[in-house]
Amino acid sequence: MKEFVNRAPFGEWLDAYERVYLSPKSIANIECPNCRMRFLNLIFLSKTVDDQRSRSLFWCGSCLWGLIPIPATPPPGGRRVTAGTEVVPNYRIVVDDGDNAT
Ligand SMILES: [Zn+2]
Repeated sequence: MKEFVNRAPFGEWLDAYERVYLSPKSIANIECPNCRMRFLNLIFLSKTVDDQRSRSLFWCGSCLWGLIPIPATPPPGGRRVTAGTEVVPNYRIVVDDGDNAT
């Protein structure tokens, strides 16, 4: 298996996250900021299926990089998963390099 290096700035990952968050259904059309493949995943983990307190997990299924899980309210159409049933690869966390310019 090929090892990918993350070359995308943290800010680009945040942009991609925001685009998917605002329009979960468009996820298949949004490129990974790093490898440019369209294998992004965004799920919202919560204790129960209708719990509004959840953590978002965002990663690319191709290069296996992503953002650290953060507390987030699932948007309409967001993919909700009950904690304990999630299938998440062991992806690597993109570090905030301070380049957060939008
Ligand atoms: Zn990728």
